Amino acid sequence: MTIETKILDGKAVANRIKEDLKTRVASLKEKEVTPSLVTILVGDDPSSETYVRMKGNACERVGITSKKIHLPEDTTTETLVQTIEELNNDTSVHGILLQHPVPSQVDERLAFETIAIEKDVDGVTSAGYGQTALGFGTFPSCTPAAIMKIMEEYDIQAEGKHAVVVGRSPILGKPVSALLLNQNATVTTCHSRTADLASHVRQADIVIAAVGKPEFIKGDWVKEGAVVLDAGYNKGNIGDVEYEAAARKSSYITPVPGGVGPVTIAMLLKHTVIAAEKTVR
Ligand code: NAP
Repeated sequence: MTIETKILDGKAVANRIKEDLKTRVASLKEKEVTPSLVTILVGDDPSSETYVRMKGNACERVGITSKKIHLPEDTTTETLVQTIEELNNDTSVHGILLQHPVPSQVDERLAFETIAIEKDVDGVTSAGYGQTALGFGTFPSCTPAAIMKIMEEYDIQAEGKHAVVVGRSPILGKPVSALLLNQNATVTTCHSRTADLASHVRQADIVIAAVGKPEFIKGDWVKEGAVVLDAGYNKGNIGDVEYEAAARKSSYITPVPGGVGPVTIAMLLKHTVIAAEKTVR
């Protein structure tokens, strides 16, 4: 018997989130509050510039004000920290996003830690991460939040399942592992030093791919009927999972593009709106 794979349609999930946000933004505007996201870009990395532009356009489409601060390649940690502190003190700003990576002379961790927790809509501060891990965070990192949202929308239960997360970055692998654990999955987090990765993935009811290597997770490793969520986004619109082969084995799978990516942006918008709503309550 072969399992019929269902495509997890991230674009459709993102559109539903954005429709809801338009209503919420309209009611905030009635109270004379316009949600506002400031994105800080340091240097001239072309992919970062594209991401920042995409996020800005998405903001405008739901009525969120977006502002970009573009700092030069040779910006010091001190200047960046000062810029963030000014935004922390600006009551018209509800969310702050520091696009990473930043140039190597900048202390990225210090810059992240400077973001006020109530404006940390991208979930990059250690306090935000800690709260997410403990189960009461307001703004988890956006890609992990997107993965959980997709599962919720398709009524995919984590409880009692074995989730295997491949990747342990602070913005993706680690927080998504924590969110799955909080939903009573049994979680295995794999990384570059994991021995026999394939044997771990083969046991997974839920596979989360967060590696950053095109088609790194082979379809052959995927257990029959497993749910596959691919956060990977590599050059040429290729995910971290060998899509065609994995789709033949899985019960549900996210495409790349059109899976986790659009929902990640929608979660950023949602967090910004929530941050604005909190200022009027
Ligand atoms: P990252 O910081 O480079 O982390 C990659 C992780 O993969 C690390 O934990 C690393 O392990 C692990 N890894 C590397 N080689 C491995 C191997 N051979 N076997 C097992 N694990 C291995 O990347 P990231 O920021 O988490 O991003 C991961 C992917 O998600 C990228 O494709 C990125 O573009 C994508 N992404 C997408 C979105 C979105 O909006 N859709 C947002 C963020 C990221 P070590 O810790 O041992 O080095």
